[in-house]
Amino acid sequence: MAGDREAASPHGNTPLVGPGEVVLEPGEPIWKELVGMVADGRRILLVLHIRPDGDSVGCSLAVARCLRGIGSQAVVVAPDPIPANLRFLDPDQECVPPDRLSGSFDLALFFDCADLERIGDARPLLRGIPRIINIDHHPSNRRYGDVNYVAPRAGACGELALALIDALGCALDARSATALYAALATDTGSFRYENTTAVTLSMAARLRQAGADVALIGREVWESRSLGSLRLIRRAIETLGVDAGGELAWMALTAEDLAEAACGPADTEGLVDYPRSLRGVEVAALFVADSPGEVRVSLRSQGRVDVSALAGAFAGGGHARAAGCTVAGELADVRARVLAAARLALGSTAHSTVEVARTR
Ligand code: AMP
Ligand code: MN
Ligand code: MN
Repeated sequence: MAGDREAASPHGNTPLVGPGEVVLEPGEPIWKELVGMVADGRRILLVLHIRPDGDSVGCSLAVARCLRGIGSQAVVVAPDPIPANLRFLDPDQECVPPDRLSGSFDLALFFDCADLERIGDARPLLRGIPRIINIDHHPSNRRYGDVNYVAPRAGACGELALALIDALGCALDARSATALYAALATDTGSFRYENTTAVTLSMAARLRQAGADVALIGREVWESRSLGSLRLIRRAIETLGVDAGGELAWMALTAEDLAEAACGPADTEGLVDYPRSLRGVEVAALFVADSPGEVRVSLRSQGRVDVSALAGAFAGGGHARAAGCTVAGELADVRARVLAAARLALGSTAHSTVEVARTR
């Protein structure tokens, strides 16, 4: 799409911005500065966040590919392995672990990463890099870059990545379109959540036009489970508990549950959608005690409660409707503390009203 009229504006000529939607105007001073810095960078390091998701992997792979098209050397570093259901986005295995990187970089480029705690073992690499650009949509973003483009209203970071690609005048091929479409689809719950705006959908249409393989994305991302991960779902549903008069639902998994199902931490991705899917639930939680002495907590909200504030009370963060935290302690204790805080946020006095299945 380089050089055509769309390159002048991420949204083409039609204003697609409704109430509460983000405007990605290339004319904004910060945007100009950012585009100039990216265009000047010869060797650019794109950094994925830990436990990378479709938004992180899709944005970085697409932008890296586009940057190569305009003569930059772009490398993607992955502090954690790419989950099996996203590996199709990286057929050449260009996402490398931090210890396999060599050489120096002019610029580090971040997408979808709210703070530098979330890059794990990639952090030491930043020492020798003179400039950091931080492009994100988490309201809790810590503005750790030299330039920070944080647009919390962008439903998916993929929208910001596509705007950058356009502003740089980069061509979009089928592979980068597939990566960006996957970024949009995964961050919007397949275009089901409220963060799916007219901008998101018009970008998705454009990506489809540019050759995004939507059937491949559908199959690989959501329909390529291992037998073990299905067993893990069964196990997780056995732990389902409902609380706060039906407005709070949760599930909890231990390291033994994961081991019995031959699953890794990545297989817990999306499990929180089961308690969330129960009619009447306002807040859903998933507790995963997969490393000793700490519990990973995923939180989801239907809208009434800001779960990023709830996660923030336990030193985590995220979005109003999808947030998380890692809490030190044993499963039963952490669960009790987080559920108590959730009940309070819901304004509920009801306690453990229903235990749907065997709970622990
Ligand atoms: P998850 O439940 O892991 O899918 O995460 C949902 C959202 O919460 C994502 O936007 C993450 O960036 C954020 N998040 C998850 N865990 C943490 C954490 N320990 N600290 C800060 N943010 C987190
Ligand atoms: Mn992410
Ligand atoms: Mn995201």
